[in-house]
Amino acid sequence: MNAYESACHYFANAASVMDLSPNMKRLLLTPEREVKVQVAMKMDNGEIATFVGYRIQHNSARGPMKGGLRFHPDVDAQEVLALASLMTWKTAVVDIPYGGAKGGISVAPKSLSDAELELMTRKFVDELQDVIGPDKDIPAPDMGTNAQVMAWIVNQYEKYHGFNPACVTGKPLELHGTDGREEATGRGVGLLTAAMLQKFNRSLDGTTIAIQGFGNVGSFAASYLHDNGAKVVAISDISGGRYDPAGIDIAAAVLHVARHRSLDGFETAQQISNEELLALDVDVLIPAALGGVLTKENAADVRAQYVVEAANGPVLPDADQILHERDIVVLPDILANAGGVTVSYFEWVQNQQYFRWDLERTRAELAKTLTVSFEKMWDIATQKHIPLRSAAYLMGIGRVGRATVLAGI
Ligand code: NAD
Repeated sequence: MNAYESACHYFANAASVMDLSPNMKRLLLTPEREVKVQVAMKMDNGEIATFVGYRIQHNSARGPMKGGLRFHPDVDAQEVLALASLMTWKTAVVDIPYGGAKGGISVAPKSLSDAELELMTRKFVDELQDVIGPDKDIPAPDMGTNAQVMAWIVNQYEKYHGFNPACVTGKPLELHGTDGREEATGRGVGLLTAAMLQKFNRSLDGTTIAIQGFGNVGSFAASYLHDNGAKVVAISDISGGRYDPAGIDIAAAVLHVARHRSLDGFETAQQISNEELLALDVDVLIPAALGGVLTKENAADVRAQYVVEAANGPVLPDADQILHERDIVVLPDILANAGGVTVSYFEWVQNQQYFRWDLERTRAELAKTLTVSFEKMWDIATQKHIPLRSAAYLMGIGRVGRATVLAGI
Protein backbone atom coordinates (compact mmCIF):
# COMPACT_ATOMS: atom_id res chain seq x y z
CA MET A 1 0.00 0.00 0.00
CA ASN A 2 1.49 3.35 -0.98
CA ALA A 3 1.19 6.65 0.91
CA TYR A 4 -1.90 7.75 -1.03
CA GLU A 5 -3.76 4.46 -0.57
CA SER A 6 -2.88 4.63 3.10
CA ALA A 7 -4.24 8.21 3.44
CA CYS A 8 -7.46 7.16 1.62
CA HIS A 9 -7.82 4.16 3.92
CA TYR A 10 -7.64 6.30 7.07
CA PHE A 11 -10.08 8.80 5.52
CA ALA A 12 -12.52 6.01 4.59
CA ASN A 13 -12.35 4.53 8.11
CA ALA A 14 -13.40 7.83 9.65
CA ALA A 15 -15.91 8.61 6.91
CA SER A 16 -17.72 5.32 7.64
CA VAL A 17 -18.13 6.29 11.31
CA MET A 18 -19.47 9.70 10.15
CA ASP A 19 -21.91 8.33 7.61
CA LEU A 20 -20.67 10.70 4.85
CA SER A 21 -22.44 10.38 1.50
CA PRO A 22 -20.36 8.94 -1.39
CA ASN A 23 -20.53 12.31 -3.19
CA MET A 24 -19.27 14.22 -0.17
CA LYS A 25 -16.47 11.65 0.26
CA ARG A 26 -15.44 12.13 -3.38
CA LEU A 27 -15.57 15.92 -3.04
CA LEU A 28 -13.39 15.88 0.08
CA LEU A 29 -10.84 13.44 -1.37
CA THR A 30 -10.37 15.07 -4.79
CA PRO A 31 -7.59 17.69 -4.93
CA GLU A 32 -8.53 21.15 -6.21
CA ARG A 33 -5.38 21.55 -8.33
CA GLU A 34 -2.35 19.40 -9.21
CA VAL A 35 0.70 21.11 -10.69
CA LYS A 36 3.65 19.20 -12.13
CA VAL A 37 6.57 21.20 -13.51
CA GLN A 38 9.92 20.66 -15.13
CA VAL A 39 12.80 22.41 -13.35
CA ALA A 40 15.62 22.62 -15.89
CA MET A 41 18.96 24.19 -15.01
CA LYS A 42 22.68 24.26 -15.64
CA MET A 43 24.72 22.45 -13.00
CA ASP A 44 28.06 23.80 -11.72
CA ASN A 45 29.91 21.66 -14.29
CA GLY A 46 27.89 23.09 -17.18
CA GLU A 47 25.74 19.97 -17.69
CA ILE A 48 21.98 20.47 -18.09
CA ALA A 49 19.88 18.79 -15.39
CA THR A 50 16.11 18.33 -15.28
CA PHE A 51 14.15 17.79 -12.07
CA VAL A 52 10.42 17.16 -11.65
CA GLY A 53 8.57 19.34 -9.14
CA TYR A 54 5.04 19.11 -7.76
CA ARG A 55 2.56 21.29 -5.91
CA ILE A 56 -0.76 19.72 -5.08
CA GLN A 57 -3.47 21.93 -3.61
CA HIS A 58 -5.90 19.62 -1.95
CA ASN A 59 -8.60 21.71 -0.27
CA SER A 60 -9.24 25.40 0.48
CA ALA A 61 -12.64 25.18 2.17
CA ARG A 62 -11.26 26.59 5.46
CA GLY A 63 -8.73 29.10 4.09
CA PRO A 64 -5.56 29.45 2.03
CA MET A 65 -3.80 26.14 1.50
CA LYS A 66 -0.77 25.31 3.59
CA GLY A 67 1.87 22.63 3.40
CA GLY A 68 5.55 21.84 3.23
CA LEU A 69 7.97 21.46 0.37
CA ARG A 70 9.99 18.25 0.36
CA PHE A 71 13.27 17.72 -1.52
CA HIS A 72 13.80 13.95 -1.50
CA PRO A 73 14.40 11.26 -4.17
CA ASP A 74 11.15 9.45 -3.21
CA VAL A 75 8.93 12.46 -4.00
CA ASP A 76 6.25 11.56 -6.58
CA ALA A 77 2.73 12.72 -7.42
CA GLN A 78 1.01 10.05 -5.29
CA GLU A 79 3.10 10.79 -2.23
CA VAL A 80 2.58 14.54 -2.58
CA LEU A 81 -1.18 14.06 -2.95
CA ALA A 82 -1.27 11.88 0.18
CA LEU A 83 0.67 14.50 2.14
CA ALA A 84 -1.50 17.34 0.78
CA SER A 85 -4.66 15.62 2.00
CA LEU A 86 -3.06 15.02 5.41
CA MET A 87 -2.47 18.79 5.60
CA THR A 88 -6.18 19.46 5.00
CA TRP A 89 -7.15 17.31 7.99
CA LYS A 90 -4.21 18.51 10.10
CA THR A 91 -4.98 22.23 9.79
CA ALA A 92 -8.60 21.43 10.63
CA VAL A 93 -7.68 19.28 13.65
CA VAL A 94 -5.75 22.17 15.22
CA ASP A 95 -8.45 24.57 13.97
CA ILE A 96 -6.26 27.08 12.17
CA PRO A 97 -7.82 28.90 9.18
CA TYR A 98 -6.08 26.99 6.41
CA GLY A 99 -6.65 24.27 3.87
CA GLY A 100 -4.07 21.69 2.79
CA ALA A 101 -1.37 21.47 0.11
CA LYS A 102 2.03 19.89 -0.35
CA GLY A 103 4.88 20.06 -2.83
CA GLY A 104 8.32 18.84 -3.55
CA ILE A 105 11.05 17.98 -5.99
CA SER A 106 12.33 14.50 -6.64
CA VAL A 107 16.00 15.11 -5.82
CA ALA A 108 18.64 14.18 -3.25
CA PRO A 109 19.50 17.70 -2.00
CA LYS A 110 22.82 16.58 -0.51
CA SER A 111 23.96 15.64 -4.03
CA LEU A 112 23.72 19.32 -5.06
CA SER A 113 26.14 22.15 -4.29
CA ASP A 114 24.71 25.13 -2.39
CA ALA A 115 24.63 27.14 -5.63
CA GLU A 116 22.76 24.33 -7.44
CA LEU A 117 20.26 23.99 -4.58
CA GLU A 118 19.57 27.73 -4.69
CA LEU A 119 19.17 27.79 -8.47
CA MET A 120 16.83 24.78 -8.43
CA THR A 121 14.70 26.39 -5.68
CA ARG A 122 14.46 29.71 -7.56
CA LYS A 123 13.54 27.99 -10.83
CA PHE A 124 10.85 26.02 -9.00
CA VAL A 125 9.39 29.30 -7.67
CA ASP A 126 9.45 30.73 -11.22
CA GLU A 127 7.16 27.85 -12.22
CA LEU A 128 4.85 28.12 -9.19
CA GLN A 129 4.71 31.84 -8.39
CA ASP A 130 1.29 32.41 -9.92
CA VAL A 131 -0.44 29.61 -7.99
CA ILE A 132 1.10 30.21 -4.54
CA GLY A 133 0.89 33.31 -2.32
CA PRO A 134 -0.14 34.53 1.15
CA ASP A 135 -3.88 34.21 0.45
CA LYS A 136 -3.67 31.20 -1.90
CA ASP A 137 -1.12 28.62 -0.85
CA ILE A 138 1.75 29.08 1.60
CA PRO A 139 4.70 26.62 1.44
CA ALA A 140 6.92 25.74 4.43
CA PRO A 141 9.92 23.50 5.18
CA ASP A 142 9.67 19.72 5.14
CA MET A 143 12.20 16.92 4.62
CA GLY A 144 15.27 18.20 2.79
CA THR A 145 14.29 21.88 2.98
CA ASN A 146 15.03 24.46 5.67
CA ALA A 147 14.95 28.17 6.55
CA GLN A 148 17.60 28.94 3.91
CA VAL A 149 15.46 27.37 1.18
CA MET A 150 12.47 29.40 2.44
CA ALA A 151 14.61 32.57 2.24
CA TRP A 152 15.34 31.88 -1.45
CA ILE A 153 11.64 31.22 -2.03
CA VAL A 154 10.47 34.51 -0.50
CA ASN A 155 13.17 36.44 -2.35
CA GLN A 156 12.25 34.89 -5.69
CA TYR A 157 8.49 35.30 -5.10
CA GLU A 158 9.00 38.99 -4.21
CA LYS A 159 10.68 39.59 -7.59
CA TYR A 160 7.25 39.00 -9.12
CA HIS A 161 4.93 40.30 -6.41
CA GLY A 162 6.82 42.86 -4.27
CA PHE A 163 7.34 42.71 -0.48
CA ASN A 164 5.47 39.62 0.64
CA PRO A 165 6.90 37.84 3.70
CA ALA A 166 3.65 35.95 4.35
CA CYS A 167 4.03 33.99 1.08
CA VAL A 168 6.06 31.29 2.84
CA THR A 169 6.73 30.28 6.47
CA GLY A 170 9.71 28.78 8.25
CA LYS A 171 11.82 31.75 7.13
CA PRO A 172 15.00 32.85 8.92
CA LEU A 173 14.42 35.38 11.73
CA GLU A 174 16.25 38.06 9.73
CA LEU A 175 13.67 37.68 6.95
CA HIS A 176 10.45 37.88 9.01
CA GLY A 177 10.52 34.36 10.40
CA THR A 178 9.32 33.72 13.92
CA ASP A 179 11.21 32.65 16.99
CA GLY A 180 10.12 29.12 17.80
CA ARG A 181 9.25 27.89 14.27
CA GLU A 182 12.34 25.71 13.88
CA GLU A 183 11.69 23.84 17.12
CA ALA A 184 7.89 23.83 16.79
CA THR A 185 7.18 20.38 15.30
CA GLY A 186 9.58 18.56 17.62
CA ARG A 187 8.44 20.57 20.63
CA GLY A 188 4.82 19.75 19.76
CA VAL A 189 5.72 16.06 19.56
CA GLY A 190 7.21 16.35 23.05
CA LEU A 191 4.26 18.28 24.52
CA LEU A 192 1.74 15.83 23.07
CA THR A 193 3.70 12.78 24.19
CA ALA A 194 3.54 14.18 27.73
CA ALA A 195 -0.20 14.92 27.39
CA MET A 196 -0.87 11.38 26.17
CA LEU A 197 1.18 9.76 28.95
CA GLN A 198 -0.74 11.82 31.52
CA LYS A 199 -3.98 10.16 30.38
CA PHE A 200 -2.42 6.85 31.41
CA ASN A 201 -1.29 8.28 34.76
CA ARG A 202 2.30 8.39 33.60
CA SER A 203 4.76 11.22 33.11
CA LEU A 204 7.88 11.78 31.04
CA ASP A 205 10.01 11.13 34.13
CA GLY A 206 12.14 8.07 33.44
CA THR A 207 10.05 7.09 30.39
CA THR A 208 12.30 5.39 27.82
CA ILE A 209 12.09 6.64 24.25
CA ALA A 210 13.48 5.61 20.84
CA ILE A 211 13.42 8.14 18.00
CA GLN A 212 13.95 7.28 14.33
CA GLY A 213 15.24 10.30 12.39
CA PHE A 214 17.40 13.03 13.89
CA GLY A 215 16.66 15.92 11.55
CA ASN A 216 14.57 18.94 12.43
CA VAL A 217 11.68 17.04 14.03
CA GLY A 218 13.57 14.17 15.65
CA SER A 219 16.30 16.32 17.19
CA PHE A 220 13.97 18.94 18.69
CA ALA A 221 11.62 16.23 19.97
CA ALA A 222 14.61 14.45 21.55
CA SER A 223 15.81 17.66 23.19
CA TYR A 224 12.37 18.54 24.59
CA LEU A 225 11.77 15.03 25.92
CA HIS A 226 15.27 14.77 27.41
CA ASP A 227 15.01 18.22 29.03
CA ASN A 228 11.67 17.26 30.57
CA GLY A 229 12.85 14.09 32.28
CA ALA A 230 12.48 11.34 29.67
CA LYS A 231 15.33 8.95 28.92
CA VAL A 232 16.02 8.96 25.16
CA VAL A 233 17.84 5.65 24.73
CA ALA A 234 17.99 5.44 20.93
CA ILE A 235 18.24 7.85 18.00
CA SER A 236 18.99 7.31 14.32
CA ASP A 237 19.35 8.89 10.94
CA ILE A 238 20.11 7.70 7.46
CA SER A 239 23.58 6.60 8.66
CA GLY A 240 22.03 4.11 11.14
CA GLY A 241 20.98 3.95 14.81
CA ARG A 242 22.68 4.63 18.15
CA TYR A 243 21.53 2.90 21.36
CA ASP A 244 22.48 3.38 24.98
CA PRO A 245 20.19 1.90 27.68
CA ALA A 246 21.60 4.47 30.12
CA GLY A 247 20.35 7.33 27.91
CA ILE A 248 21.98 9.23 25.07
CA ASP A 249 23.65 12.60 25.53
CA ILE A 250 21.21 14.49 23.29
CA ALA A 251 23.04 17.84 23.48
CA ALA A 252 26.22 16.10 22.25
CA ALA A 253 24.28 14.43 19.40
CA VAL A 254 22.76 17.77 18.34
CA LEU A 255 26.23 19.35 18.35
CA HIS A 256 27.64 16.45 16.31
CA VAL A 257 24.92 16.83 13.65
CA ALA A 258 25.41 20.61 13.55
CA ARG A 259 29.11 20.02 12.82
CA HIS A 260 28.93 16.99 10.53
CA ARG A 261 25.39 17.21 9.04
CA SER A 262 24.69 13.62 10.19
CA LEU A 263 25.10 11.22 13.13
CA ASP A 264 27.84 9.42 11.20
CA GLY A 265 30.79 9.09 13.59
CA PHE A 266 28.70 9.75 16.74
CA GLU A 267 29.72 7.03 19.20
CA THR A 268 27.33 5.50 21.77
CA ALA A 269 27.21 2.18 23.64
CA GLN A 270 25.83 0.31 20.64
CA GLN A 271 25.39 0.85 16.90
CA ILE A 272 22.06 -0.56 15.69
CA SER A 273 20.14 -0.52 12.43
CA ASN A 274 17.05 1.60 11.79
CA GLU A 275 15.00 -1.60 11.69
CA GLU A 276 16.34 -2.73 15.08
CA LEU A 277 15.47 0.66 16.57
CA LEU A 278 11.79 0.13 15.73
CA ALA A 279 11.75 -3.09 17.77
CA LEU A 280 13.55 -1.84 20.90
CA ASP A 281 12.09 -2.52 24.32
CA VAL A 282 11.14 1.08 25.16
CA ASP A 283 8.02 2.82 26.46
CA VAL A 284 7.59 5.21 23.52
CA LEU A 285 8.63 4.78 19.88
CA ILE A 286 8.77 7.95 17.78
CA PRO A 287 9.22 7.49 14.02
CA ALA A 288 10.41 10.96 12.89
CA ALA A 289 11.94 10.28 9.46
CA LEU A 290 10.15 8.69 6.52
CA GLY A 291 6.61 7.47 5.97
CA GLY A 292 5.67 3.78 5.76
CA VAL A 293 8.28 2.44 8.20
CA LEU A 294 5.88 0.33 10.28
CA THR A 295 4.34 -2.32 8.06
CA LYS A 296 2.49 -5.63 8.46
CA GLU A 297 5.91 -7.31 8.35
CA ASN A 298 7.42 -5.53 11.37
CA ALA A 299 4.44 -4.25 13.45
CA ALA A 300 4.39 -7.44 15.52
CA ASP A 301 8.01 -6.75 16.55
CA VAL A 302 7.21 -3.37 18.13
CA ARG A 303 7.73 -3.59 21.89
CA ALA A 304 6.86 0.02 22.77
CA GLN A 305 3.53 0.68 24.49
CA TYR A 306 3.02 3.99 22.65
CA VAL A 307 3.86 5.07 19.10
CA VAL A 308 3.96 8.80 18.37
CA GLU A 309 3.79 9.59 14.64
CA ALA A 310 6.21 12.51 14.37
CA ALA A 311 6.79 11.74 10.67
CA ASN A 312 3.94 11.89 8.19
CA GLY A 313 2.38 8.48 7.58
CA PRO A 314 4.97 6.28 9.32
CA VAL A 315 2.40 3.59 10.26
CA LEU A 316 0.73 1.85 7.32
CA PRO A 317 -2.90 0.70 7.80
CA ASP A 318 -2.07 -3.03 8.21
CA ALA A 319 0.48 -2.14 10.88
CA ASP A 320 -2.01 0.23 12.52
CA GLN A 321 -4.49 -2.63 12.84
CA ILE A 322 -1.84 -4.93 14.34
CA LEU A 323 -0.77 -2.26 16.84
CA HIS A 324 -4.42 -1.64 17.76
CA GLU A 325 -5.02 -5.36 18.36
CA ARG A 326 -1.92 -5.40 20.58
CA ASP A 327 -3.27 -2.45 22.63
CA ILE A 328 -0.41 -0.22 21.52
CA VAL A 329 -1.60 3.38 21.53
CA VAL A 330 -0.83 5.38 18.36
CA LEU A 331 -0.82 9.18 18.53
CA PRO A 332 -1.64 10.07 14.90
CA ASP A 333 0.46 12.30 12.66
CA ILE A 334 -2.35 14.74 11.90
CA LEU A 335 -2.11 15.94 15.49
CA ALA A 336 1.30 14.65 16.68
CA ASN A 337 3.33 16.73 14.19
CA ALA A 338 0.90 19.65 13.86
CA GLY A 339 3.12 21.92 15.99
CA GLY A 340 5.01 23.01 12.87
CA VAL A 341 2.00 24.17 10.89
CA THR A 342 0.58 25.80 14.01
CA VAL A 343 3.66 28.00 14.50
CA SER A 344 3.78 28.56 10.72
CA TYR A 345 0.30 30.03 11.17
CA PHE A 346 1.64 32.27 13.98
CA GLU A 347 4.45 33.40 11.65
CA TRP A 348 1.93 34.22 8.89
CA VAL A 349 -0.26 36.13 11.38
CA GLN A 350 2.76 38.21 12.51
CA ASN A 351 3.76 38.88 8.88
CA GLN A 352 0.23 40.02 8.02
CA GLN A 353 0.20 42.33 11.06
CA TYR A 354 3.82 43.59 10.68
CA PHE A 355 4.22 42.63 14.34
CA ARG A 356 6.61 40.30 16.13
CA TRP A 357 5.88 38.00 19.08
CA ASP A 358 8.55 36.86 21.53
CA LEU A 359 9.46 33.20 22.01
CA GLU A 360 7.47 32.87 25.26
CA ARG A 361 4.27 33.97 23.53
CA THR A 362 4.81 31.60 20.61
CA ARG A 363 5.48 28.68 22.96
CA ALA A 364 2.47 29.50 25.14
CA GLU A 365 0.12 29.80 22.13
CA LEU A 366 1.50 26.55 20.68
CA ALA A 367 0.92 24.69 23.94
CA LYS A 368 -2.62 26.09 24.16
CA THR A 369 -3.56 25.14 20.59
CA LEU A 370 -2.14 21.61 20.85
CA THR A 371 -3.61 20.95 24.30
CA VAL A 372 -7.11 22.06 23.28
CA SER A 373 -6.94 19.85 20.16
CA PHE A 374 -5.55 16.88 22.08
CA GLU A 375 -8.28 17.09 24.74
CA LYS A 376 -11.01 17.27 22.08
CA MET A 377 -9.55 14.28 20.22
CA TRP A 378 -9.25 12.35 23.47
CA ASP A 379 -12.89 13.07 24.42
CA ILE A 380 -14.17 11.93 21.00
CA ALA A 381 -12.08 8.74 21.17
CA THR A 382 -13.32 7.97 24.68
CA GLN A 383 -16.98 8.76 23.98
CA LYS A 384 -17.12 6.82 20.71
CA HIS A 385 -14.72 4.02 21.77
CA ILE A 386 -12.56 4.59 18.68
CA PRO A 387 -8.77 4.87 18.24
CA LEU A 388 -7.13 8.30 18.52
CA ARG A 389 -6.49 8.35 14.77
CA SER A 390 -10.17 7.91 13.91
CA ALA A 391 -11.11 10.58 16.47
CA ALA A 392 -8.63 13.04 14.94
CA TYR A 393 -9.91 12.34 11.42
CA LEU A 394 -13.48 12.80 12.64
CA MET A 395 -12.56 16.26 13.94
CA GLY A 396 -10.70 17.22 10.78
CA ILE A 397 -13.15 15.87 8.21
CA GLY A 398 -16.12 17.21 10.19
CA ARG A 399 -14.73 20.75 10.21
CA VAL A 400 -13.80 20.72 6.50
CA GLY A 401 -17.14 19.15 5.56
CA ARG A 402 -19.16 21.70 7.54
CA ALA A 403 -17.19 24.63 6.06
CA THR A 404 -17.79 23.23 2.57
CA VAL A 405 -21.53 22.90 3.08
CA LEU A 406 -21.91 26.30 4.79
CA ALA A 407 -20.04 28.09 1.99
CA GLY A 408 -22.27 26.45 -0.60
CA ILE A 409 -21.10 24.07 -3.30
P1 NAD B 1 14.84 16.42 7.97
O1 NAD B 1 15.23 16.37 6.56
O2 NAD B 1 15.25 17.58 8.82
O3 NAD B 1 15.32 15.10 8.75
C1 NAD B 1 15.01 13.82 8.29
C2 NAD B 1 15.79 12.82 9.13
O4 NAD B 1 15.43 11.51 8.71
C3 NAD B 1 17.31 12.93 8.97
O5 NAD B 1 17.91 12.65 10.22
C4 NAD B 1 17.62 11.82 7.97
O6 NAD B 1 18.94 11.34 8.06
C5 NAD B 1 16.62 10.79 8.41
N1 NAD B 1 16.37 9.79 7.38
C6 NAD B 1 16.20 9.96 6.05
N2 NAD B 1 16.04 8.79 5.44
C7 NAD B 1 16.09 7.85 6.41
C8 NAD B 1 16.00 6.44 6.41
N3 NAD B 1 15.82 5.76 5.29
N4 NAD B 1 16.08 5.80 7.61
C9 NAD B 1 16.25 6.49 8.75
N5 NAD B 1 16.36 7.83 8.82
C10 NAD B 1 16.29 8.48 7.65
O7 NAD B 1 13.23 16.27 7.98
P2 NAD B 1 12.20 16.71 9.10
O8 NAD B 1 11.74 18.09 8.79
O9 NAD B 1 12.74 16.38 10.44
O10 NAD B 1 10.97 15.76 8.76
C11 NAD B 1 10.88 14.44 9.27
C12 NAD B 1 9.45 13.94 9.13
O11 NAD B 1 8.57 14.81 9.83
C13 NAD B 1 8.91 13.89 7.70
O12 NAD B 1 8.04 12.79 7.59
C14 NAD B 1 8.13 15.19 7.59
O13 NAD B 1 7.12 15.13 6.59
C15 NAD B 1 7.55 15.28 8.97
N6 NAD B 1 7.15 16.64 9.35
C16 NAD B 1 8.06 17.66 9.40
C17 NAD B 1 7.65 18.91 9.82
C18 NAD B 1 8.62 20.06 9.98
O14 NAD B 1 8.21 21.12 10.48
N7 NAD B 1 9.88 19.91 9.61
C19 NAD B 1 6.31 19.14 10.15
C20 NAD B 1 5.40 18.08 10.09
C21 NAD B 1 5.84 16.83 9.70
